[in-house]
Amino acid sequence: MRISVIGTGYVGLVTGVCLATKGHQVICIDKQLKIVKKINRMEAPIYEPGLEELLRNVITKGTLVATTDLKSAVMNTDISIISVGTPFRDGKIDLRYIESAAQEIGNVLKEKNSYHVICVKSTVIPTTTDTLVKSILEDASGKKAGEFGLAMNPEFLREGKAVQDFMYPDRIVIGAYDKESFESMKNVYKDFFDAPILKVNLRTAEMIKYTANALLATLISYSNEVAVICEKVGKIDVKEVLEGVTLDKRFNPRVNNQLIYPGMVSYLKAGCGFGGSCFPKDVQALLAFSKELGYFPSMIQATLAINYAQPYRLIERLEEILDTLENTKIAVLGLSFKPETDDIRESPSLVIIKELLAKKAKVIGVDPIAIENTKKKFPQNELLHYSTDYKHALQEADAAILVTAWSDFTKISPQEVKKLMKIPILIDGRRVFDKSSFEAAGVQYIGVGLAEYL
Ligand code: NAD
Repeated sequence: MRISVIGTGYVGLVTGVCLATKGHQVICIDKQLKIVKKINRMEAPIYEPGLEELLRNVITKGTLVATTDLKSAVMNTDISIISVGTPFRDGKIDLRYIESAAQEIGNVLKEKNSYHVICVKSTVIPTTTDTLVKSILEDASGKKAGEFGLAMNPEFLREGKAVQDFMYPDRIVIGAYDKESFESMKNVYKDFFDAPILKVNLRTAEMIKYTANALLATLISYSNEVAVICEKVGKIDVKEVLEGVTLDKRFNPRVNNQLIYPGMVSYLKAGCGFGGSCFPKDVQALLAFSKELGYFPSMIQATLAINYAQPYRLIERLEEILDTLENTKIAVLGLSFKPETDDIRESPSLVIIKELLAKKAKVIGVDPIAIENTKKKFPQNELLHYSTDYKHALQEADAAILVTAWSDFTKISPQEVKKLMKIPILIDGRRVFDKSSFEAAGVQYIGVGLAEYL
């Protein structure tokens, strides 16, 4: 099929590259010329494992091209997949990019004679596609929905595993306005037939995405809430508690007593809290939307409140040890919101850096690939330095906080920490280190959800 993908960020570029890899003819459209130029030069503008290699293949084969020219792309394709950003701004979801993409596509549809399907892939609040997007398209094109197709196909990929998730989806949700729209979208995914296709209406597709993200975020906040209780009691390790809970087959189905997939265990983990470009904004948008409807969703509110507090708890624990953070130097290990991505949007590291600086500590931010993005938020100065070299950071620091579980960091040995740091103090914000071996090596180890002091 001939497919336009509008917006080539984390979702759009992966979508375009993967669909082209599956044999579709794809045109990627972005407003930002520098992104378009990079893609055509076969350079991925974002870091995502495996993406650049696939990008090189599809550009070389001629199955993918990038442009800023939305009109010619829509004219020469059968489907437009909208994957522009939907940030949370001023207390609600900001749909301005969706509106302008729909407006631009609608203007082209006015002149286009053949059938075209518009599919919203961006995460949008329920009713967006069947009210806002539909009416913008109808007004701009002078045609009625049905004369053009309309679909909502939420994306479930995880940054850091985006290519793998797109190529091997757990399910494909297709919200469709009518049968023709559904059939066209089914064809887009005809080579992904291992995955179940769920056919629903437009607003159900939108709600599935929010429900999935809110549930995963709630599991994380639930784990962090339990972690606080464990810390208050003392001598209870939240990691053991959650392991004891999640070995239940209802959480982790097994065949012949072997785990077939590490189900909910991945999200029932205590840590620094969730970040990224999706969970925080999507949960906030769902909360705001629900309130608009006259219902206050207290569980969703609690998920956010717990998450907001979590990074500050790490600082509090550090203060308990150092008494004051003033004039100390703290190594923040990990800046991206999770490993294998350069995305720092809503990363707990940002809250931690800001709070450390507010408490007059000096900070060394360490990350293999997210330093440039972090510098845009917090430029380097006499109090804040960056390094890709954790060894250098540990040598300089009075304490280290592990924020992102990059494999470079999780491999750090207790002996290394002991050797490099003057007074070895390690806050394990992701519970990836073995407490007893670090303590045996003479490192003061503090783990989220584990306190010995009572
Ligand atoms: P992003 O900010 O990385 O990329 C959006 C891109 O759209 C930008 O490059 C921007 O220049 C471009 N754009 C905006 N308006 C445009 C227009 N009118 N024409 C052409 N290009 C335009 O966003 P993202 O992280 O890829 O997220 C996109 C959507 O997918 C959001 O709704 C998000 O919630 C959802 N989503 C994201 C993820 C994720 O992990 N990032 C996962 C699932 C769903």
